[in-house]
Amino acid sequence: MNAASTQQRPEITIIGAGWAGLAAAVTLAAQGYRINLIEAAPQAGGRARRISIGDIELDNGQHILLGAYQELLGLLKTLGLKEEDIFIRTRLNLKMHCMHGKGLHITVPKLGNPLHMLIALLAASGLSIAEKWKIIRCWTTMMQSGFKLDQDQTVTDYLDKQQQSERLVKLFWRPICVAALNTDIEKASMQAFLNVLNRSFADNRANSDMLLPRTGLDRVLPQPALDFIRQKGGKVSTGERLLKINTGPEGVTDIETTKGYHVVTHLILATPYQQTRKLLAPLGHHAAITTAMMTLEDEPITTLYMQFPRHIRLEGYMQGVCDGISQWFIDRRTCNQPGLIAAVISASGTHMQMDRETLTQAVIAEIEKIFPDWPQPSSTWLVREKRATFSCTPASGNIRPQPGNIGHNIWLAGDFVDTGLPATLEGAVASGLQCARQIITDTSIT
Ligand SMILES: Cc1cc2nc3c(=O)[nH]c(=O)nc-3n(C[C@H](O)[C@H](O)[C@H](O)COP(=O)(O)OP(=O)(O)OC[C@H]3O[C@@H](n4cnc5c(N)ncnc54)[C@H](O)[C@@H]3O)c2cc1C
Repeated sequence: MNAASTQQRPEITIIGAGWAGLAAAVTLAAQGYRINLIEAAPQAGGRARRISIGDIELDNGQHILLGAYQELLGLLKTLGLKEEDIFIRTRLNLKMHCMHGKGLHITVPKLGNPLHMLIALLAASGLSIAEKWKIIRCWTTMMQSGFKLDQDQTVTDYLDKQQQSERLVKLFWRPICVAALNTDIEKASMQAFLNVLNRSFADNRANSDMLLPRTGLDRVLPQPALDFIRQKGGKVSTGERLLKINTGPEGVTDIETTKGYHVVTHLILATPYQQTRKLLAPLGHHAAITTAMMTLEDEPITTLYMQFPRHIRLEGYMQGVCDGISQWFIDRRTCNQPGLIAAVISASGTHMQMDRETLTQAVIAEIEKIFPDWPQPSSTWLVREKRATFSCTPASGNIRPQPGNIGHNIWLAGDFVDTGLPATLEGAVASGLQCARQIITDTSIT
Protein backbone atom coordinates (compact mmCIF):
# COMPACT_ATOMS: atom_id res chain seq x y z
CA MET A 1 0.00 0.00 0.00
CA ASN A 2 1.53 3.34 -0.93
CA ALA A 3 1.48 6.46 1.22
CA ALA A 4 -1.02 8.24 -1.02
CA SER A 5 -3.69 5.56 -0.70
CA THR A 6 -3.14 5.38 3.08
CA GLN A 7 -3.71 9.11 3.37
CA GLN A 8 -7.04 8.83 1.63
CA ARG A 9 -8.39 6.25 4.02
CA PRO A 10 -10.93 7.77 6.40
CA GLU A 11 -10.59 7.82 10.15
CA ILE A 12 -12.74 5.18 11.83
CA THR A 13 -14.10 5.96 15.27
CA ILE A 14 -14.65 2.83 17.35
CA ILE A 15 -16.49 2.88 20.66
CA GLY A 16 -15.58 0.05 23.03
CA ALA A 17 -12.24 -1.72 23.37
CA GLY A 18 -13.70 -5.14 24.13
CA TRP A 19 -12.68 -7.99 21.85
CA ALA A 20 -15.20 -6.92 19.17
CA GLY A 21 -13.93 -3.33 19.01
CA LEU A 22 -10.30 -4.44 19.14
CA ALA A 23 -10.85 -6.93 16.29
CA ALA A 24 -12.34 -4.18 14.11
CA ALA A 25 -9.60 -1.72 15.06
CA VAL A 26 -6.70 -4.11 14.36
CA THR A 27 -8.12 -5.23 11.02
CA LEU A 28 -8.70 -1.68 9.84
CA ALA A 29 -5.36 -0.40 11.19
CA ALA A 30 -3.61 -3.23 9.31
CA GLN A 31 -5.20 -1.89 6.11
CA GLY A 32 -4.00 1.64 6.71
CA TYR A 33 -7.12 3.18 8.24
CA ARG A 34 -6.62 5.71 11.01
CA ILE A 35 -8.26 4.53 14.22
CA ASN A 36 -9.80 6.56 17.01
CA LEU A 37 -10.63 3.99 19.69
CA ILE A 38 -12.62 5.24 22.69
CA GLU A 39 -13.12 3.09 25.79
CA ALA A 40 -15.05 4.00 28.92
CA ALA A 41 -13.13 1.75 31.32
CA PRO A 42 -9.59 2.46 32.48
CA GLN A 43 -8.37 -0.59 30.52
CA ALA A 44 -9.21 -2.50 27.34
CA GLY A 45 -10.65 -6.04 27.29
CA GLY A 46 -14.28 -5.46 28.29
CA ARG A 47 -15.79 -8.65 29.68
CA ALA A 48 -12.56 -10.56 29.02
CA ARG A 49 -10.07 -8.52 31.00
CA ARG A 50 -7.44 -8.75 33.70
CA ILE A 51 -8.35 -7.68 37.24
CA SER A 52 -6.23 -7.16 40.33
CA ILE A 53 -7.60 -8.18 43.71
CA GLY A 54 -5.16 -7.28 46.48
CA ASP A 55 -1.79 -8.49 45.21
CA ILE A 56 -3.10 -11.17 42.86
CA GLU A 57 -3.74 -10.75 39.14
CA LEU A 58 -6.76 -12.67 37.87
CA ASP A 59 -9.10 -12.68 34.90
CA ASN A 60 -12.58 -11.34 35.55
CA GLY A 61 -13.70 -14.88 34.75
CA GLN A 62 -11.92 -17.99 33.56
CA HIS A 63 -12.19 -18.13 29.76
CA ILE A 64 -11.86 -21.27 27.63
CA LEU A 65 -11.40 -21.07 23.88
CA LEU A 66 -11.83 -23.76 21.24
CA GLY A 67 -9.92 -24.80 18.16
CA ALA A 68 -13.04 -23.71 16.26
CA TYR A 69 -12.29 -20.05 17.09
CA GLN A 70 -10.88 -19.48 13.61
CA GLU A 71 -11.57 -15.75 13.37
CA LEU A 72 -9.85 -15.13 16.69
CA LEU A 73 -6.84 -17.27 15.76
CA GLY A 74 -6.62 -15.42 12.43
CA LEU A 75 -6.66 -12.08 14.25
CA LEU A 76 -3.77 -13.16 16.48
CA LYS A 77 -1.81 -13.98 13.30
CA THR A 78 -2.48 -10.43 12.03
CA LEU A 79 -0.85 -9.26 15.25
CA GLY A 80 2.15 -11.47 14.56
CA LEU A 81 1.43 -13.71 17.55
CA LYS A 82 2.04 -17.45 17.54
CA GLU A 83 -0.74 -19.66 18.87
CA GLU A 84 1.71 -21.86 20.79
CA ASP A 85 3.06 -18.85 22.70
CA ILE A 86 -0.41 -17.87 23.85
CA PHE A 87 -2.38 -21.08 24.33
CA ILE A 88 -1.94 -24.61 25.55
CA ARG A 89 -3.88 -26.66 23.00
CA THR A 90 -5.25 -29.97 24.31
CA ARG A 91 -7.59 -32.52 22.81
CA LEU A 92 -11.06 -32.40 24.36
CA ASN A 93 -11.01 -34.49 27.51
CA LEU A 94 -14.40 -34.43 29.20
CA LYS A 95 -14.11 -35.82 32.72
CA MET A 96 -17.42 -35.26 34.52
CA HIS A 97 -17.80 -36.01 38.24
CA CYS A 98 -21.16 -36.72 39.82
CA MET A 99 -21.85 -35.83 43.44
CA HIS A 100 -24.44 -38.62 43.40
CA GLY A 101 -23.58 -41.61 41.23
CA LYS A 102 -21.13 -42.54 38.55
CA GLY A 103 -19.44 -39.93 36.36
CA LEU A 104 -18.37 -39.90 32.73
CA HIS A 105 -15.07 -39.70 30.85
CA ILE A 106 -14.81 -38.96 27.11
CA THR A 107 -11.60 -38.20 25.26
CA VAL A 108 -11.60 -37.17 21.62
CA PRO A 109 -8.94 -39.31 19.87
CA LYS A 110 -6.49 -38.00 17.28
CA LEU A 111 -8.55 -39.23 14.32
CA GLY A 112 -10.15 -37.51 11.36
CA ASN A 113 -13.80 -36.43 11.14
CA PRO A 114 -16.28 -38.15 11.66
CA LEU A 115 -14.38 -41.10 13.20
CA HIS A 116 -13.11 -38.95 16.08
CA MET A 117 -16.61 -38.43 17.50
CA LEU A 118 -17.73 -42.00 16.94
CA ILE A 119 -14.67 -43.52 18.61
CA ALA A 120 -14.79 -40.93 21.42
CA LEU A 121 -18.36 -41.96 22.25
CA LEU A 122 -17.77 -45.70 21.85
CA ALA A 123 -14.69 -45.59 24.09
CA ALA A 124 -16.31 -43.34 26.73
CA SER A 125 -16.35 -44.71 30.28
CA GLY A 126 -19.41 -44.28 32.52
CA LEU A 127 -22.00 -44.84 29.77
CA SER A 128 -23.80 -48.10 28.98
CA ILE A 129 -23.88 -49.45 25.39
CA ALA A 130 -27.54 -48.36 25.16
CA GLU A 131 -26.67 -44.83 26.29
CA LYS A 132 -23.81 -44.55 23.80
CA TRP A 133 -26.12 -45.74 21.07
CA LYS A 134 -28.70 -43.09 22.03
CA ILE A 135 -26.16 -40.28 21.79
CA ILE A 136 -24.85 -41.60 18.46
CA ARG A 137 -28.42 -41.79 17.09
CA CYS A 138 -29.10 -38.23 18.21
CA TRP A 139 -25.79 -37.05 16.72
CA THR A 140 -26.63 -38.76 13.42
CA THR A 141 -30.01 -36.99 13.32
CA MET A 142 -28.27 -33.65 13.86
CA MET A 143 -25.77 -34.36 11.08
CA GLN A 144 -28.48 -35.53 8.68
CA SER A 145 -30.38 -32.28 9.21
CA GLY A 146 -27.22 -30.33 8.34
CA PHE A 147 -27.38 -28.96 11.92
CA LYS A 148 -30.41 -26.87 10.89
CA LEU A 149 -33.88 -26.72 12.42
CA ASP A 150 -36.97 -25.63 10.49
CA GLN A 151 -38.14 -23.90 13.65
CA ASP A 152 -36.00 -23.17 16.70
CA GLN A 153 -36.96 -24.75 20.04
CA THR A 154 -35.39 -25.21 23.45
CA VAL A 155 -32.60 -27.74 23.93
CA THR A 156 -34.81 -29.63 26.43
CA ASP A 157 -37.64 -29.97 23.89
CA TYR A 158 -35.25 -31.22 21.23
CA LEU A 159 -33.53 -33.75 23.49
CA ASP A 160 -36.92 -35.02 24.71
CA LYS A 161 -37.94 -35.69 21.12
CA GLN A 162 -34.64 -37.49 20.58
CA GLN A 163 -35.43 -39.65 23.64
CA GLN A 164 -32.28 -38.73 25.50
CA SER A 165 -32.62 -40.08 29.03
CA GLU A 166 -32.50 -37.90 32.13
CA ARG A 167 -29.07 -39.32 32.98
CA LEU A 168 -27.67 -38.56 29.52
CA VAL A 169 -28.99 -35.03 29.68
CA LYS A 170 -27.51 -34.49 33.14
CA LEU A 171 -24.13 -36.08 32.40
CA PHE A 172 -23.53 -35.15 28.79
CA TRP A 173 -25.84 -32.66 27.06
CA ARG A 174 -26.50 -30.14 29.81
CA PRO A 175 -22.86 -29.49 30.80
CA ILE A 176 -21.86 -28.96 27.16
CA CYS A 177 -24.85 -26.73 26.42
CA VAL A 178 -24.48 -24.54 29.52
CA ALA A 179 -20.75 -24.14 28.93
CA ALA A 180 -21.28 -23.23 25.28
CA LEU A 181 -24.38 -21.00 25.51
CA ASN A 182 -24.26 -19.79 29.13
CA THR A 183 -27.97 -20.57 29.22
CA ASP A 184 -29.68 -23.52 30.89
CA ILE A 185 -31.12 -26.20 28.61
CA GLU A 186 -34.74 -25.46 29.58
CA LYS A 187 -34.50 -22.10 27.85
CA ALA A 188 -31.46 -22.41 25.56
CA SER A 189 -31.80 -22.18 21.77
CA MET A 190 -31.32 -25.55 20.07
CA GLN A 191 -30.32 -23.83 16.81
CA ALA A 192 -27.53 -21.90 18.54
CA PHE A 193 -26.43 -25.15 20.23
CA LEU A 194 -26.42 -26.93 16.85
CA ASN A 195 -24.31 -24.13 15.37
CA VAL A 196 -21.72 -24.64 18.11
CA LEU A 197 -21.79 -28.45 17.80
CA ASN A 198 -21.43 -28.19 14.04
CA ARG A 199 -18.41 -25.91 14.20
CA SER A 200 -16.71 -27.68 17.08
CA PHE A 201 -17.38 -31.37 16.51
CA ALA A 202 -18.65 -32.03 12.98
CA ASP A 203 -15.78 -30.60 11.02
CA ASN A 204 -12.03 -30.75 11.48
CA ARG A 205 -11.09 -32.73 14.62
CA ALA A 206 -8.82 -29.91 15.80
CA ASN A 207 -11.87 -27.62 16.10
CA SER A 208 -12.88 -29.52 19.25
CA ASP A 209 -9.50 -28.86 20.91
CA MET A 210 -9.49 -26.69 23.99
CA LEU A 211 -7.25 -23.63 24.03
CA LEU A 212 -6.23 -22.58 27.51
CA PRO A 213 -4.54 -19.17 27.79
CA ARG A 214 -0.91 -19.31 28.96
CA THR A 215 -1.18 -15.74 30.28
CA GLY A 216 -3.77 -13.41 31.74
CA LEU A 217 -6.44 -12.43 29.20
CA ASP A 218 -4.97 -8.94 28.77
CA ARG A 219 -1.89 -10.40 27.10
CA VAL A 220 -3.89 -12.70 24.79
CA LEU A 221 -5.49 -9.91 22.76
CA PRO A 222 -6.05 -6.51 24.44
CA GLN A 223 -2.44 -5.47 25.07
CA PRO A 224 -0.96 -6.70 21.76
CA ALA A 225 -3.92 -5.11 19.93
CA LEU A 226 -3.44 -1.71 21.60
CA ASP A 227 0.31 -1.79 20.84
CA PHE A 228 -0.46 -2.61 17.20
CA ILE A 229 -3.09 0.15 16.81
CA ARG A 230 -0.71 2.74 18.30
CA GLN A 231 2.20 1.54 16.14
CA LYS A 232 -0.01 2.10 13.11
CA GLY A 233 -0.65 5.69 14.18
CA GLY A 234 -4.06 5.08 15.79
CA LYS A 235 -5.36 6.89 18.86
CA VAL A 236 -6.56 5.01 21.93
CA SER A 237 -8.36 6.80 24.73
CA THR A 238 -9.37 4.93 27.88
CA GLY A 239 -11.50 6.35 30.67
CA GLU A 240 -13.57 8.19 28.04
CA ARG A 241 -17.28 7.38 27.74
CA LEU A 242 -19.47 8.07 24.73
CA LEU A 243 -22.50 10.04 25.90
CA LYS A 244 -24.32 11.17 22.78
CA ILE A 245 -24.31 10.63 19.03
CA ASN A 246 -25.18 13.70 16.95
CA THR A 247 -26.60 13.25 13.46
CA GLY A 248 -27.41 15.28 10.35
CA PRO A 249 -29.19 14.31 7.12
CA GLU A 250 -26.24 12.13 6.03
CA GLY A 251 -25.87 10.29 9.33
CA VAL A 252 -23.53 10.81 12.28
CA THR A 253 -21.65 14.08 12.27
CA ASP A 254 -19.98 14.04 15.67
CA ILE A 255 -20.08 12.44 19.09
CA GLU A 256 -20.02 13.82 22.59
CA THR A 257 -17.93 12.03 25.23
CA THR A 258 -16.94 12.65 28.81
CA LYS A 259 -13.79 14.30 27.44
CA GLY A 260 -15.28 16.45 24.65
CA TYR A 261 -16.41 16.21 21.01
CA HIS A 262 -15.08 14.15 18.10
CA VAL A 263 -15.96 14.73 14.45
CA VAL A 264 -16.97 11.40 12.97
CA THR A 265 -17.20 10.05 9.43
CA HIS A 266 -17.42 6.31 10.26
CA LEU A 267 -18.67 5.05 13.62
CA ILE A 268 -18.42 1.48 14.89
CA LEU A 269 -20.40 0.90 18.06
CA ALA A 270 -18.79 -2.09 19.79
CA THR A 271 -20.47 -1.59 23.14
CA PRO A 272 -22.54 -4.23 25.00
CA TYR A 273 -26.17 -4.42 23.90
CA GLN A 274 -27.48 -2.53 26.93
CA GLN A 275 -25.26 0.49 26.06
CA THR A 276 -25.83 0.20 22.31
CA ARG A 277 -29.58 0.30 22.86
CA LYS A 278 -29.32 3.45 25.00
CA LEU A 279 -26.97 5.19 22.57
CA LEU A 280 -29.09 4.45 19.49
CA ALA A 281 -32.53 5.11 21.02
CA PRO A 282 -32.40 8.95 20.78
CA LEU A 283 -31.50 8.76 17.07
CA GLY A 284 -34.96 7.46 16.18
CA HIS A 285 -33.83 5.80 12.92
CA HIS A 286 -33.10 2.49 14.57
CA ALA A 287 -36.33 1.93 16.47
CA ALA A 288 -36.74 -1.66 15.22
CA ILE A 289 -33.28 -2.61 16.49
CA THR A 290 -33.51 -0.82 19.82
CA THR A 291 -37.03 -2.05 20.59
CA ALA A 292 -36.08 -5.64 19.79
CA MET A 293 -32.97 -5.39 21.95
CA MET A 294 -35.13 -4.37 24.95
CA THR A 295 -36.23 -7.99 25.20
CA LEU A 296 -32.75 -9.54 25.39
CA GLU A 297 -32.04 -10.86 28.88
CA ASP A 298 -28.79 -11.36 30.81
CA GLU A 299 -27.08 -14.44 32.20
CA PRO A 300 -24.38 -14.36 34.88
CA ILE A 301 -21.07 -16.23 35.15
CA THR A 302 -19.45 -16.80 38.53
CA THR A 303 -15.83 -17.77 39.08
CA LEU A 304 -14.36 -18.84 42.42
CA TYR A 305 -10.56 -18.85 42.41
CA MET A 306 -9.03 -21.06 45.12
CA GLN A 307 -5.35 -21.08 46.03
CA PHE A 308 -4.10 -24.55 47.00
CA PRO A 309 -0.46 -25.55 47.57
CA ARG A 310 1.59 -25.38 44.37
CA HIS A 311 1.78 -29.16 43.92
CA ILE A 312 -2.04 -29.51 43.57
CA ARG A 313 -2.91 -30.23 39.94
CA LEU A 314 -5.95 -31.19 37.92
CA GLU A 315 -5.39 -34.06 35.53
CA GLY A 316 -6.13 -32.78 32.00
CA TYR A 317 -6.30 -29.12 33.23
CA MET A 318 -10.12 -29.15 33.36
CA GLN A 319 -12.76 -31.38 34.94
CA GLY A 320 -16.52 -30.99 35.28
CA VAL A 321 -19.25 -31.61 37.84
CA CYS A 322 -22.67 -32.53 36.48
CA ASP A 323 -24.92 -32.27 39.53
CA GLY A 324 -23.24 -29.81 41.86
CA ILE A 325 -23.09 -26.09 42.40
CA SER A 326 -19.71 -26.05 40.65
CA GLN A 327 -19.71 -26.85 36.95
CA TRP A 328 -16.05 -26.81 35.90
CA PHE A 329 -12.71 -26.75 37.67
CA ILE A 330 -9.80 -25.32 35.68
CA ASP A 331 -6.15 -25.51 36.65
CA ARG A 332 -4.47 -22.10 36.37
CA ARG A 333 -1.02 -23.68 36.18
CA THR A 334 -1.65 -23.13 32.44
CA CYS A 335 -0.97 -19.44 33.04
CA ASN A 336 1.81 -19.92 35.52
CA GLN A 337 -0.36 -19.81 38.64
CA PRO A 338 0.37 -23.27 40.11
CA GLY A 339 -2.09 -24.48 42.74
CA LEU A 340 -4.72 -21.93 41.68
CA ILE A 341 -7.97 -23.64 40.69
CA ALA A 342 -10.87 -21.75 39.12
CA ALA A 343 -14.38 -23.11 39.73
CA VAL A 344 -16.75 -21.81 37.05
CA ILE A 345 -20.53 -21.62 37.39
CA SER A 346 -22.26 -20.52 34.20
CA ALA A 347 -25.82 -19.19 33.78
CA SER A 348 -28.36 -18.42 36.48
CA GLY A 349 -29.37 -20.87 39.19
CA THR A 350 -29.74 -21.27 42.93
CA HIS A 351 -26.12 -20.18 43.44
CA MET A 352 -27.18 -16.62 42.57
CA GLN A 353 -29.30 -16.52 45.71
CA MET A 354 -26.35 -17.53 47.91
CA ASP A 355 -24.24 -14.93 49.67
CA ARG A 356 -20.49 -14.94 48.92
CA GLU A 357 -19.47 -16.96 51.97
CA THR A 358 -22.17 -19.61 51.55
CA LEU A 359 -21.32 -20.06 47.87
CA THR A 360 -17.59 -20.25 48.57
CA GLN A 361 -18.13 -22.91 51.24
CA ALA A 362 -20.50 -24.89 48.99
CA VAL A 363 -17.87 -25.08 46.24
CA ILE A 364 -15.11 -26.00 48.71
CA ALA A 365 -17.34 -28.79 50.12
CA GLU A 366 -17.67 -30.22 46.59
CA ILE A 367 -13.90 -30.04 46.09
CA GLU A 368 -13.44 -31.94 49.39
CA LYS A 369 -15.77 -34.67 48.18
CA ILE A 370 -14.27 -35.02 44.71
CA PHE A 371 -10.61 -34.60 45.70
CA PRO A 372 -10.48 -35.87 49.30
CA ASP A 373 -6.65 -35.68 49.39
CA TRP A 374 -6.55 -31.96 48.72
CA PRO A 375 -6.02 -29.61 51.69
CA GLN A 376 -8.22 -26.54 52.28
CA PRO A 377 -7.45 -23.58 50.00
CA SER A 378 -5.37 -20.90 51.74
CA SER A 379 -7.21 -18.06 49.95
CA THR A 380 -10.27 -17.64 47.77
CA TRP A 381 -11.52 -14.88 45.44
CA LEU A 382 -15.08 -14.83 44.15
CA VAL A 383 -15.87 -12.89 40.95
CA ARG A 384 -19.53 -12.52 40.01
CA GLU A 385 -20.34 -11.10 36.57
CA LYS A 386 -24.09 -10.58 36.68
CA ARG A 387 -24.31 -9.47 33.05
CA ALA A 388 -21.79 -11.87 31.55
CA THR A 389 -23.72 -12.62 28.34
CA PHE A 390 -27.18 -12.36 26.84
CA SER A 391 -29.49 -15.31 27.42
CA CYS A 392 -29.24 -17.44 24.28
CA THR A 393 -32.90 -18.42 23.90
CA PRO A 394 -34.87 -19.27 20.73
CA ALA A 395 -36.41 -15.78 20.95
CA SER A 396 -32.98 -14.12 20.97
CA GLY A 397 -32.39 -15.47 17.45
CA ASN A 398 -35.13 -13.14 16.14
CA ILE A 399 -33.96 -10.17 18.18
CA ARG A 400 -30.22 -10.00 17.57
CA PRO A 401 -29.39 -7.36 14.95
CA GLN A 402 -27.18 -8.25 11.98
CA PRO A 403 -23.53 -7.26 12.40
CA GLY A 404 -22.24 -4.44 10.26
CA ASN A 405 -23.86 -1.36 8.77
CA ILE A 406 -27.22 -0.31 10.15
CA GLY A 407 -27.65 2.66 7.87
CA HIS A 408 -25.67 5.80 7.01
CA ASN A 409 -22.29 5.70 8.72
CA ILE A 410 -22.95 3.47 11.76
CA TRP A 411 -21.74 -0.12 12.10
CA LEU A 412 -22.62 -2.50 14.96
CA ALA A 413 -20.28 -5.03 16.53
CA GLY A 414 -20.40 -7.05 19.76
CA ASP A 415 -21.11 -10.57 20.92
CA PHE A 416 -24.87 -9.81 20.84
CA VAL A 417 -25.09 -9.26 17.09
CA ASP A 418 -26.27 -12.18 15.02
CA THR A 419 -23.15 -14.11 14.08
CA GLY A 420 -25.01 -17.40 14.61
CA LEU A 421 -22.81 -17.95 17.66
CA PRO A 422 -23.70 -17.51 21.31
CA ALA A 423 -22.01 -14.70 23.25
CA THR A 424 -18.38 -15.77 23.03
CA LEU A 425 -14.98 -14.32 22.29
CA GLU A 426 -15.21 -15.82 18.81
CA GLY A 427 -18.62 -14.22 18.22
CA ALA A 428 -17.31 -10.84 19.42
CA VAL A 429 -14.22 -11.03 17.20
CA ALA A 430 -16.25 -12.26 14.20
CA SER A 431 -18.64 -9.32 14.56
CA GLY A 432 -15.76 -6.81 14.67
CA LEU A 433 -14.13 -8.38 11.63
CA GLN A 434 -17.40 -8.25 9.74
CA CYS A 435 -17.69 -4.48 10.34
CA ALA A 436 -14.08 -3.96 9.30
CA ARG A 437 -14.51 -6.00 6.12
CA GLN A 438 -17.66 -4.08 5.17
CA ILE A 439 -15.92 -0.75 5.70
CA ILE A 440 -12.91 -1.89 3.67
CA THR A 441 -15.21 -2.94 0.83
CA ASP A 442 -17.34 0.22 1.01
CA THR A 443 -14.39 2.61 1.10
CA SER A 444 -11.90 0.74 -1.04
CA ILE A 445 -10.00 3.03 -3.36
CA THR A 446 -9.75 1.67 -6.89
C1 LIG B 1 -17.04 -14.29 33.46
C2 LIG B 1 -17.11 -14.52 31.98
C3 LIG B 1 -16.65 -15.71 31.46
C4 LIG B 1 -16.71 -15.93 30.07
N1 LIG B 1 -16.21 -17.10 29.56
C5 LIG B 1 -16.08 -17.23 28.23
C6 LIG B 1 -15.40 -18.35 27.67
O1 LIG B 1 -14.92 -19.25 28.39
N2 LIG B 1 -15.28 -18.43 26.32
C7 LIG B 1 -15.78 -17.46 25.49
O2 LIG B 1 -15.59 -17.58 24.27
N3 LIG B 1 -16.46 -16.39 26.00
C8 LIG B 1 -16.62 -16.26 27.32
N4 LIG B 1 -17.26 -15.17 27.84
C9 LIG B 1 -17.92 -14.22 26.92
C10 LIG B 1 -16.93 -13.17 26.36
O3 LIG B 1 -16.12 -12.64 27.37
C11 LIG B 1 -17.74 -12.05 25.73
O4 LIG B 1 -18.63 -12.61 24.77
C12 LIG B 1 -16.85 -11.02 25.02
O5 LIG B 1 -15.81 -10.61 25.84
C13 LIG B 1 -17.71 -9.83 24.60
O6 LIG B 1 -16.90 -8.90 23.92
P1 LIG B 1 -17.53 -7.57 23.29
O7 LIG B 1 -16.40 -6.82 22.71
O8 LIG B 1 -18.67 -7.94 22.43
O9 LIG B 1 -18.16 -6.77 24.52
P2 LIG B 1 -17.48 -6.16 25.83
O10 LIG B 1 -16.38 -7.05 26.26
O11 LIG B 1 -18.56 -5.90 26.80
O12 LIG B 1 -16.81 -4.81 25.34
C14 LIG B 1 -17.55 -3.61 25.21
C15 LIG B 1 -16.68 -2.45 25.67
O13 LIG B 1 -17.40 -1.24 25.48
C16 LIG B 1 -17.10 -0.38 26.55
N5 LIG B 1 -18.18 0.61 26.65
C17 LIG B 1 -19.46 0.43 27.04
N6 LIG B 1 -20.15 1.56 26.97
C18 LIG B 1 -19.31 2.51 26.50
C19 LIG B 1 -19.43 3.90 26.20
N7 LIG B 1 -20.60 4.55 26.35
N8 LIG B 1 -18.34 4.58 25.76
C20 LIG B 1 -17.15 3.93 25.58
N9 LIG B 1 -16.98 2.61 25.85
C21 LIG B 1 -18.03 1.92 26.30
C22 LIG B 1 -17.04 -1.32 27.74
O14 LIG B 1 -16.34 -0.74 28.82
C23 LIG B 1 -16.32 -2.52 27.14
O15 LIG B 1 -14.92 -2.44 27.29
C24 LIG B 1 -17.26 -14.94 29.22
C25 LIG B 1 -17.73 -13.75 29.75
C26 LIG B 1 -17.66 -13.52 31.11
C27 LIG B 1 -18.14 -12.21 31.67
